[in-house]
Amino acid sequence: MTDNARWHRLDIGAALDRLESRPEGLAASAAAERLRRYGANAIVEQARRPPWRMLLDQFRDFMILVLIAAAVIAGLVGEPQDSIAIVVIVLLNAILGAVQEFRAERAVAALRRMAVPATAVLRDGAARTIAADDLVPGDVVLLEAGNAVPADLRLIEAAELAADESTLTGESRPVDKSTAPLPAERLPLGDRTNLAFKGTLITRGRGLGLVVATGMQTEIGRIAGMLQGAELVRTPLQRRLGRFGRRLAIAILGICALILVAGLLRGEPPVLMFLTAVSLAVAAIPEALPAVITVSLAFGAAKMSRQHVLIRRLPAVETLGSVTYICADKTGTLTENRMRLERLMIGDDVYDGLGQAGGEMARVLGQALALSNEVRTGSDGEPVGEPTEVALYQAATAAGIDKAEHEAALPRIAELPFDSTRKRMSTLHRDGAAVRLFCKGAPESVLPRCRDWLGGGALDIDGMLGRAERLADEGYRVLALACRRLDAVPTPLDDGVEDRLSLLGLVALVDPPRDGVEAAVAECMTAGITPVMITGDHPGTAKAIALRLGICGAGDRVLTGRDLEQMSADRFAQEAERARVYARVSPKQKIDIVQALQRRGQFAAMTGDGVNDAPALKMADIGVAMGKKGTDVAREAADMVLLDDNFTTIVSAVREGRRIYDNIRKFVNYTMSSNAGEIWTLFLAPFLGLPIPLLPIHILWINLVTDGLPGLAFAAEPADRGVMHRPPRPPDESIFANGIWQHIIWVGLFIGGLAIASQAWAYGRGAAHWQTEVFTVLTLSQLFHALSVRSERESLFSIGILGNRAMLAAVLFTVGLQLLVIYLPAANAIFRTQPLPPLDLAVCFALASLTLAAVEFEKWLARRGLIYRSQGGDGRPPR
Ligand code: ATP
Repeated sequence: MTDNARWHRLDIGAALDRLESRPEGLAASAAAERLRRYGANAIVEQARRPPWRMLLDQFRDFMILVLIAAAVIAGLVGEPQDSIAIVVIVLLNAILGAVQEFRAERAVAALRRMAVPATAVLRDGAARTIAADDLVPGDVVLLEAGNAVPADLRLIEAAELAADESTLTGESRPVDKSTAPLPAERLPLGDRTNLAFKGTLITRGRGLGLVVATGMQTEIGRIAGMLQGAELVRTPLQRRLGRFGRRLAIAILGICALILVAGLLRGEPPVLMFLTAVSLAVAAIPEALPAVITVSLAFGAAKMSRQHVLIRRLPAVETLGSVTYICADKTGTLTENRMRLERLMIGDDVYDGLGQAGGEMARVLGQALALSNEVRTGSDGEPVGEPTEVALYQAATAAGIDKAEHEAALPRIAELPFDSTRKRMSTLHRDGAAVRLFCKGAPESVLPRCRDWLGGGALDIDGMLGRAERLADEGYRVLALACRRLDAVPTPLDDGVEDRLSLLGLVALVDPPRDGVEAAVAECMTAGITPVMITGDHPGTAKAIALRLGICGAGDRVLTGRDLEQMSADRFAQEAERARVYARVSPKQKIDIVQALQRRGQFAAMTGDGVNDAPALKMADIGVAMGKKGTDVAREAADMVLLDDNFTTIVSAVREGRRIYDNIRKFVNYTMSSNAGEIWTLFLAPFLGLPIPLLPIHILWINLVTDGLPGLAFAAEPADRGVMHRPPRPPDESIFANGIWQHIIWVGLFIGGLAIASQAWAYGRGAAHWQTEVFTVLTLSQLFHALSVRSERESLFSIGILGNRAMLAAVLFTVGLQLLVIYLPAANAIFRTQPLPPLDLAVCFALASLTLAAVEFEKWLARRGLIYRSQGGDGRPPR
C-alpha cells in the first residue's frame, strides 16, 4: 500500500509534522527547495508522438503502401529513376503532412498550457496566488466554492465544505468534507472525507488544506492515462467527412480500376498503367481531410487565444458559426461591473452622495455602507471585493467614513451571507452591551421586512417599492439598507433576525454598459443571432440597460424567474424564442432557458461564472465561462473561456468561427475540384481515342504542389465581408451545401475538358511535348481555381488579388516550380517533360485562365441569385 493511502488516518498535527509544515504554510525558500526536489505539480502527459513517428504514420494509408511497393517493383524490372522520383514525391507529401500535424499538436498543447489554473496558497504566513503547477507537498492551500482542487490535500479546515469528485469516483453528488481523522485502514477514495483530491471541484463552502501529494503522485496522476484521451474528440464535421471520405474512396478506386482496364485495352504497358491507376487513387482519395480540419481548428483556436478567447474544446471552433442565440449575463459581460453610487434616498429626500445628507439616519446609513460588506484593502491600497459592495464602501469613504475605525467601535460578530436567491445579506456587530444588525439587499427582499424608518417614522412600504421601481426603470441597481437592535445574537442564527427592521434608505448604483457592446449587439442582429440578457437584477434595471444596448425594444416584455416557474415547458419553449431579457432568474433557470431554446431547434451559447452556472454551461451548445471573475468549476464545464469577460469577445469569436469554417469549406471545395479534374482527364482521354495523358509522377506532382502551399494558404484568407450579414449555418448542414457539390462536379469536368483539349491540340499536331502540355494546363488550372474560390460569392476583383498575400505567394511560387519542371534540363529527365515553345506555354496559361473566368461567371450568376438560391447566405451584405 502506498503512502497516500494513510493520510486520512493522521490527525492534523501529525500530518503537518510529517511534512514539516505549519498551518501558516511553508516559507517561500522551503517551497522553492521542495519544488526542485518533487518537481512541478503537473500531470505528465503521455509521451507525445515524436516527429519521426508522425512522419511514419503518414504511411499507414494502404494505397500509399501499394504505390510505394508498385514503384519499387517497377524500378526493379524497368526504370529505377522513375521509381525513385515517385518515392521522393510521396516522401515530400508525407513530410508536408507530418509538419502540419506537428504544428497542430503544438498549437493544441500551447492552448492546454494556457489553461493552467492559479491557486491561493499560504507562504510565509500570507495568502498569495500562484500557478497550481508550483505547489509542493507541505503547502497550505486556501479553498473556496468554485475552485478546482489543485493537489491532493489533507483538510485542516472545512466550513460547509463539499466537493464534486465525479472525475475521480464517478459519484455525481457532492461529498461533504470534514477534518477529523478517519481510523479505518482501507477506505475507498469517496469515503476519505478529510481529504480533497486534485482535479475535483469545490462546490460549496470554504476550507484550508495541506498538500500531501502533487503531480503524478496524486490519485488522479496515477490514473492520468484515462484523462488524456479526452482531447481527441472528433468534431461533427470530421466525423461526417470521414464517413463521406470512405464512400468516396470506394468510388475512386472503382474509377481507377476502369482507367486501368481502359489503358490495358489500348495496349499501354501494364506496369505503367498499374502505377498510373494507383497514383491517381493516392492523389484523389481525400484521406488527409480530417487532419486538415484539425489543423485549421487548432490554428484557429491559437489565433483566438490572442483575441482573449480560450478554446477548451476544439469542436467549439467549428460549431461557433452555428450559434443562433447568445445568452449573456448582464453584470460584467454586458456592463463593466464597475458600480458607482449615484443616488441616495433617505425619507423623502434624494441626494447625490452621502456627504450631502445630514442627521441620525444618514449617520447610521453611513455606518451600514461602510461596515456591511466584505470589502478588503488590496496590497495596492485599492478596495477589493464584489463591485456592488465596493461601490457602497467607496461612497462611505468619500463621505469620510473609515471602515477600519468603525469596525473597531462596532466589531462584526456574525453574518448571514448574501445569496442570489435571498438577494440580501446581514452583518451583526457588537454595539456596547447590545448587538446591531445591518441588512442590505434588493428592495423587494428587504422592504417587506421593515416596520418603520429608523427613529420610528411611519414607513409606506408600497410607496418605497414604487420609488425603487422607478429608479430601476432608469437603469439603476437599487438596494435597500436597514438596521435593527438586538440584545444578543440569537441561536440558531437564521433569517428570522432579519425581521422588524428599521429602514435607513435606498441607494441607486450605476453600472455603465461596456464599450463596444452596443455595436456587437447590432452585429448579432445582422448575423441572424439573437442576443439575450440574463440577470439576477431587477426587471426594470435589466430592461433599461437592454434598451440602451439595443437588445430589446420598448414594447418587449421582460420575463422574470417567477414567470418561468409558472409556465409549462411547452409554453416556455415558445416564449423563449421571443424573449430578449430575463430578470431575477436563478442560475438553475438558465438550464430551463437553454433547454427551451434547444427544443425549438436553436443553437445556444450561454455565459456563466459561478458554481451554479456549470450545469447550464454544460448543457448549452457553446458554454462560455468568464476568465476573470469565473470559477474553476464554470471553466471546467465550458467550451470556451472569455479572458476579458466581454460580450463583444463572444461576437468576435463567432465571427472568427465562421471565418474558419468558411475557409475549411473553401479548402475542401478546392482540393475536391482539383482531384475531380485529374480524374476526369485520365478517365475521359481513352474514351476519346487519346493516350493516357499523364505519367504517375505528373499526377503525384500536381497533387503535391496544389494541395501543398495553396491549400495551406486558405487558412490565411480573411473573413468574407458579409460574414456577419448572413444567418447562422444549421449545425447539421452538409459542408457541400449551397452550391459546393455542384461546383466540384462542373469545375472537375471543366478542368478535365481543358486538359483534354490541350492534349488533343498538341497530340493531333504530333508535338512531342503534348504530355508536358496537359500536365502544365492541369497544374495551372488548379492555381487559377485556387485564386477564384477564395471567396464563394464575391469576385476576385472586389476582394482584391492582394487580399490574401499568402495565397498569391503560394500561387506564384508554384508557377515558378512548374516552370522549372518544364525548362530545367535536370527536371526534364526526372519528370519526363519537354521544354514548351513560348506559344504553347501561352496557350497553357490561356486555357488554364479560363477556369478563373468560368468560376467568376458562376459567382456572378450566384450573386444575381440565378443559381444556388436555396442557401441562406450569399456572403454579401443585404442590399
Ligand atoms: P447578473 O446576473 O447580471 O450577473 P448579478 O449576478 O449581479 O447579476 P445577483 O448577484 O444575483 O445578480 O444579485 C441579485 C440582486 O441581489 C441584485 O439586484 C441586488 O439587488 C442584490 N445584491 C447584489 N449584490 C448584493 C450584495 N453584495 N449585498 C446585498 N444585496 C446584493
